[in-house]
Amino acid sequence: MRTHEAKRNVVVVGAGLAGLACARDLAAGGVPVQLLEAGDAVGGRVRSDRVHGCVIDRGFQVFNTSYPQVKARMDLRALRLSPFTPGVVTHTGDGRLRRLVDPGRRPREARDLLAAGVSPRDLAALGALSARDVFAPAALLRRSGRERTTGAALRRAGFSERFVEEFFRPFLAGVFLEDELETSSRVFHLVWRSMLRGTLCLPADGIGAVPRQLADGLPPGAVRLETAVTALTDDGVLTEGHGELPAAAVVVATGPGVAGRLLPSLTPPPYRTVTTCYHLAPDLRGRGPDLVTDVARRFLNTCVLSEVSPGYAPAGLSLVATSVLGAAAPGTGKALLGPLAEVYGAQTSGWEEVAVRTVEEALPAMTAPWPLSRSTRLEPGRYVCGDHRATGSVQGALASGARAAREVLADLAR
Ligand SMILES: Cc1cc2nc3c(=O)[nH]c(=O)nc-3n(C[C@H](O)[C@H](O)[C@H](O)COP(=O)(O)OP(=O)(O)OC[C@H]3O[C@@H](n4cnc5c(N)ncnc54)[C@H](O)[C@@H]3O)c2cc1C
Repeated sequence: MRTHEAKRNVVVVGAGLAGLACARDLAAGGVPVQLLEAGDAVGGRVRSDRVHGCVIDRGFQVFNTSYPQVKARMDLRALRLSPFTPGVVTHTGDGRLRRLVDPGRRPREARDLLAAGVSPRDLAALGALSARDVFAPAALLRRSGRERTTGAALRRAGFSERFVEEFFRPFLAGVFLEDELETSSRVFHLVWRSMLRGTLCLPADGIGAVPRQLADGLPPGAVRLETAVTALTDDGVLTEGHGELPAAAVVVATGPGVAGRLLPSLTPPPYRTVTTCYHLAPDLRGRGPDLVTDVARRFLNTCVLSEVSPGYAPAGLSLVATSVLGAAAPGTGKALLGPLAEVYGAQTSGWEEVAVRTVEEALPAMTAPWPLSRSTRLEPGRYVCGDHRATGSVQGALASGARAAREVLADLAR
């Protein structure tokens, strides 16, 4: 029995969302699985820390309820989700705040868009784009049309340059972590669809509650924390401090940089870097759970997290997350206080910087042509999954992990 099990035992390296989904599906398929994680907890890029009574996610991120993998796998009620305001607030060049609501969700506020200076032409283009993306089957969006840059797709959709500069460019810079609008148009349409169909929200205990819930569904003992894999061997994997572990198949779900080192035949795509600065403010209650972008692009976006989910800050205080592109220089948090004073209409000089989180490999650069899902089979008995094999998102990572499990199970059954 033991020999039989060793022959079928699968090692998954990395307990981010891709590794967790893969391990869950392998276990459900009756395969003994070991999930080896270098860090001291599961989650990878989707983790939260407690700092000075605040919930600090490892980089500002949002949870989208419409992702098919999320709907299929997660107990949303147990996450105790709280929503952002649907739509976005843009901090314009002249220092005003312009609210762009989702007219599909708040039709009564649609006329406010015209009052806010959105031209009828842009409103019509927005309606046509959104109707197509929200109602067309996802499979059609994946295949249809020529793949181009997001910028080219927006021009073809009839938007004015002004609307692109004031709305799409700042907003999408925060979504794709690039401000050239060079992300694949197919990725853009799928993300746009998911935003219109779902609710953007945060779990009460931080984004890290998502991977914890996935890990809770694994067989006892399946996850081994603080077990970094240093090499793949003929018989399995070599770990730091725990020797060699045998495996019939190895799935590398580590994220791109380590995957490229463990699997020299793999060429991972370039990645985007982002930094989030977290400030504690005396009290911004009543500002609302808005996502604010900046036309001048001094920051990607800012949000009072405790307005979305009160538990993010200690009682009587507010937690503000503000992100910038790249690995921010020291002093960035302080430099942001000026723009934040304009956005929030508050005296910011006393705000306390509680944390800064830079994520170097935050999202793959999904420039066209971007294959939306790649096989995870790399070499006999060796597989690779993660957002770099699908799309840079919760959906992409989970779907890639699921695909790896399907491919491993099919190969083991041969
Ligand atoms: C700041 C930020 C904001 C984001 N915002 C959103 C958003 O709003 N919506 C959205 O859908 N997506 C968002 N994403 C993207 C999403 O979080 C990722 O696409 C997804 O989490 C990637 O998961 P993964 O499993 O592929 O990789 P990872 O999360 O990187 O997991 C890899 C795991 O492997 C482990 N590991 C590495 N090396 C080893 C080793 N040698 N041995 C063992 N283990 C190892 C790591 O510790 C890690 O746990 C965001 C990402 C970031 C960083």
